[in-house]
Amino acid sequence: MSSPAWLDAGMEHIWLPYTQMATAQPPLPVVSSAGCRLRLADGRELIDGISSWWTACHGYSHPHIRDAVARQLDQLPHVMFAGLTHEPALRLATRLAALLPGDLERVFFTESGSVSVEVALKMALQYWQNKGQPERSRIVYFRHGYHGDTFATMALCDPDEGMHTLFAHSMPSQIMAELPTTPVLDAALARVLATHSEHIAAVIIEPLVQGAGGMKMHSPAVLRRVAELAREHDCLLICDEIMTGFGRTGTMFASEAAAQSDLWVPDIICLSKALSGGTLPLAATVARRHVFDAFLGDDPGRALMHGPTFMANPLACAAANASLDLFEREPRIAQAQAISSQLHEQLAACRTIPGVAEVRVRGAIGAVELSGPVDLGMMRRRFPELGVWLRPFGNVAYLMPPLIISPDELTILTNALTQVLHERAANVSAALDSAQSPVDSA
Ligand SMILES: *Cc1c(COP(=O)(O)O)cnc(C)c1O
Repeated sequence: MSSPAWLDAGMEHIWLPYTQMATAQPPLPVVSSAGCRLRLADGRELIDGISSWWTACHGYSHPHIRDAVARQLDQLPHVMFAGLTHEPALRLATRLAALLPGDLERVFFTESGSVSVEVALKMALQYWQNKGQPERSRIVYFRHGYHGDTFATMALCDPDEGMHTLFAHSMPSQIMAELPTTPVLDAALARVLATHSEHIAAVIIEPLVQGAGGMKMHSPAVLRRVAELAREHDCLLICDEIMTGFGRTGTMFASEAAAQSDLWVPDIICLSKALSGGTLPLAATVARRHVFDAFLGDDPGRALMHGPTFMANPLACAAANASLDLFEREPRIAQAQAISSQLHEQLAACRTIPGVAEVRVRGAIGAVELSGPVDLGMMRRRFPELGVWLRPFGNVAYLMPPLIISPDELTILTNALTQVLHERAANVSAALDSAQSPVDSA
């Protein structure tokens, strides 16, 4: 494969995410993208099955988003958001408030998911301070949760999943609980909340699907139960919809699936990833009216003390407004539901492949959990050879394609996944035959 000059030169200077730089396979150079396809420097095309870390809901280079960003670039690429404001941000805030359930209506913009969760935590803690209960300062989170890479958010990620254990000694200590998926676990969560409620500011959950912690899925009933218990103990409920928001689970927001009455509306919701249609960094923390109201008063000290330099960047807000146009004009939710049916159908056969522990589908997300040693290197190498872009992590291989993907393209993805799982099963059994232990890799 021909390697462009910038690749070899730049690889001497770049530091890649979650990567052992001594041994990693070099990343693939991408030169352009359109629809569900990524074009590599050597001319090959890959069908993308994971939407660039779950962002590219309309596929790549959608002309409507491109035009909106280009127009915004001509007019006002950036301006600070203190003392000054602009139409793209205010229009976006108005539209998000209208789309979100209940009175989730106050929007605070940031530039990344992690920071939007940090802001949600600040809101929750200061909410209680402003209400005269500063001792309510701890956060309850769930096993397999993932809420970001910054220090406060690392403290809310599954402690056993390994991404952040190195920093455990310098993170705030929060309270981990199990999702109430059985009567025993339900009682356990109720007990945790009853025991600590005077010190709990909020409960944080990724509704319906826990993403980076292993693509674990739970039912709307479990989510409702979490909301109910949080409410019972007067804890704020933060829904981290950074991954699930914007149609991914088959409704515009995953919380909607559980929001059958006002009782289930989260107090704070975090959005990012697909917010700008996968084009520019943008995140939003949206609070219900009663949360916002707790910050009002004559005392300037009651105000929310946060303000990222690039908050509400006009280009990113223009992209997000264009993305919302597409959700209005095109049948994205129906597309997510169609993807879901196809994933149910085409991944079912994976259940019988040796080394497959579980196949899960919710909305436009399909996950295959593997048992036994996982040779991530082998899988990550094979997918591009088969013309697809999939990137398993831990012990899960998953599909989270752009919502615009065609049935034929999706079939290519599920076929590639099925084939690689068969190859893996064959490798493992060959390795066992020759009495060697199979290759392991983190
Ligand atoms: C990706 C993600 C985050 C972190 O977002 P970044 O933009 O990477 O900081 C937080 N929570 C969830 C559920 C996510 O999927």
